Amino acid sequence: MTTHDVVPDLAATTQATQLRHLLDGRWAGVRDEARRRFGHTDLHPDPALTIEQRRERITALMHELAASGLHRLGFMSEYGGADDIGGSINVLQMVGHAELSLLVKAGVHWGLFGGAIQALGTTHHHERYLRAAIALDLPGCFAMTETGHGSNVQRLGTTATYDAAAEQFIVHTPDVAARKDYIGNAARDGRMAVVFAQLITGGRNHGVHALLVPIRDDAGQPCQGVQISDCGHKAGLNGVDNGRLSFDQVRVPREALLNRYGDVAADGTYTSSIENANRRFFTMLGTLVAGRIAVAGGAGAATQTALTIAVRYALTRRQFSATGGSDEIPLLDYLAHQRKLLPALATSYALQFAQQELVGMLESMHAGDGDTPARRRLESRAAGLKAVATWHATSTIQTCREACGGAGYLAENLLPQLKADSDVFTTFEGDNTVLLQLVAKNLLTDHRDRIRNLDARGMVRFAARTAADIAAEWAGTRAAMQRLRPGGLRDRGWQRALFADRDEHVLAGLARRLRRADEVDAFVTFNAAQDHVLRAARVHVDRLVLEAFVAAIDRCPDPDTALLLEDVCDLYALSNIEADRAWFLEHGRLSRGQAKAVTQAVNALCGQLRPHAATLVDGFGIPERWLAAPMAQAAGVTHGGTADRDRAGGPAVSSPRPTAVAS
Ligand SMILES: Cc1cc2nc3c(=O)[nH]c(=O)nc-3n(C[C@H](O)[C@H](O)[C@H](O)COP(=O)(O)OP(=O)(O)OC[C@H]3O[C@@H](n4cnc5c(N)ncnc54)[C@H](O)[C@@H]3O)c2cc1C
Repeated sequence: MTTHDVVPDLAATTQATQLRHLLDGRWAGVRDEARRRFGHTDLHPDPALTIEQRRERITALMHELAASGLHRLGFMSEYGGADDIGGSINVLQMVGHAELSLLVKAGVHWGLFGGAIQALGTTHHHERYLRAAIALDLPGCFAMTETGHGSNVQRLGTTATYDAAAEQFIVHTPDVAARKDYIGNAARDGRMAVVFAQLITGGRNHGVHALLVPIRDDAGQPCQGVQISDCGHKAGLNGVDNGRLSFDQVRVPREALLNRYGDVAADGTYTSSIENANRRFFTMLGTLVAGRIAVAGGAGAATQTALTIAVRYALTRRQFSATGGSDEIPLLDYLAHQRKLLPALATSYALQFAQQELVGMLESMHAGDGDTPARRRLESRAAGLKAVATWHATSTIQTCREACGGAGYLAENLLPQLKADSDVFTTFEGDNTVLLQLVAKNLLTDHRDRIRNLDARGMVRFAARTAADIAAEWAGTRAAMQRLRPGGLRDRGWQRALFADRDEHVLAGLARRLRRADEVDAFVTFNAAQDHVLRAARVHVDRLVLEAFVAAIDRCPDPDTALLLEDVCDLYALSNIEADRAWFLEHGRLSRGQAKAVTQAVNALCGQLRPHAATLVDGFGIPERWLAAPMAQAAGVTHGGTADRDRAGGPAVSSPRPTAVAS
């Protein structure tokens, strides 16, 4: 059977299940449990609620999540967890299909607040606070960002000055720029905050450290010296109570310092297992990488929901007739509409496979087998994927909204809320532009190490390379890239080589450009190359994403599903190449004829995958209850969410399958 054939319902249902298993990966059990526990709950926020009602509702849902036990997976087993950080990220991702405020509030409390106690604290903190945090008896905040500094955390203004006589830290906000800002859980519910501050002892600043600071008393009133205000109405995520915190000489005991990486003795002596202050700081931040990975997953989930709604609508909504008669054509039969939705759908598949691979890397790091380069690779990949996945969410959800015309603009059809709530994912847990610079810097470090590790002969050869050598080498690569293999543009080996070559070429060019920088003009040189820096990171992530897709197809046990995924992967790879045609042409990696052929191939793949669009979105395994957009029902949609309807309590009906195929 080829993918051009009409797919019978039963086969499509089976295939959607196969796809779901592959996308869920090793966390299929956890994700199914989340579907079972919450798939019946109407999670989508009601836009008519007031802010206070929204916050109340999210707090109530937090308690439901706590009652399910799924929230505790990521914590240590001694404290009632399951040492399964990957499981907890997958639970959050499931929630992200329907209610991003819940994902964010849960992520702030259990992921960031609880996660910081676990990762940055020691036994004393675990014993004293972890159980209460897990049970939601101690709602917490993660207070890092300040009004004056978001991305540049090393320059935070809050201070924690040690008073040896009292054996206390004095936490203080010296000016309005040092006020903690946008802090989730601060405006309404939080009782304690992990506060990031410059640690000063004996008159010396040891850099940013984290301390546990009570912010509200048992009656819910601000603690002495703590000022709390509300950030108010936001563009989205209004179920989360973001607030501002200021500290006026607030005293906390010496033990409030989360002291895994740096400690202060009773007499004020500072010690750390990591001598270099910069390394210490980045090691501390690195332990919190799970939050960033959860944000990438949440963005992916919201995108998948939007695509499912838009694809289903496009299968039933009809406009214009080919003959001028009454038999109008479903939107998804139009190439322009396929172009809007199907490459984005293919990218969502690619990103989900990359996400699960990343979560697997994180999980093995927690199992204790991570050394420093491996950790750097993880952090780099988390930063890059977060940026790419959240940008993909923003652009795709907007496209889905447009693809549903006026109906897509109505709140009842869910897309406006998804759009508003996912927007800021590009900013928090690290601004995307700043994150891509981190990726590029790590790539440059690896590149430099590779060169540094060359043996003497390699070094001489490298140093002796002239412009003519490099040009000749490029000419060779150009010729090799333009030489298509038997599979033509759809030869996976050729696509992978093209992605790898782009990655390496852009990075090598950047390294050469930056090598010109001496100490004095290092900033100017780096700044002048920032476009190149971002590009190096971006194309590197694209390569990792393609590789993750290829690996997922290799794991697919069912030949027909693997065949379908080969087409989806082709669409991901070729639409990515098409979007970057200018670079491939400029660098001679594609001939003009090939560049045109790429566009034709993307068109052909859109037609080829059109009959499978319903199956592909069903493969996301989103409970029907979370997809209840009236526009889909009003248009006569009778989708069943093939794989999950029983589990999730949705209507037991089946997806319409096209009887004619536009290829
Ligand atoms: C809804 C919401 C919830 C949040 N929750 C929390 C929370 O619970 N706890 C917490 O600590 N924080 C939280 N934050 C803060 C969030 O993490 C920060 O907003 C984020 O880190 C970005 O910082 P910033 O807003 O200061 O932006 P800035 O860092 O000022 O960035 C502004 C712009 O400048 C650009 N820019 C900055 N530096 C560079 C550079 N070197 N090169 C090129 N461009 C650059 C950025 O790309 C961006 O476009 C939240 C924010 C929001 C909006």
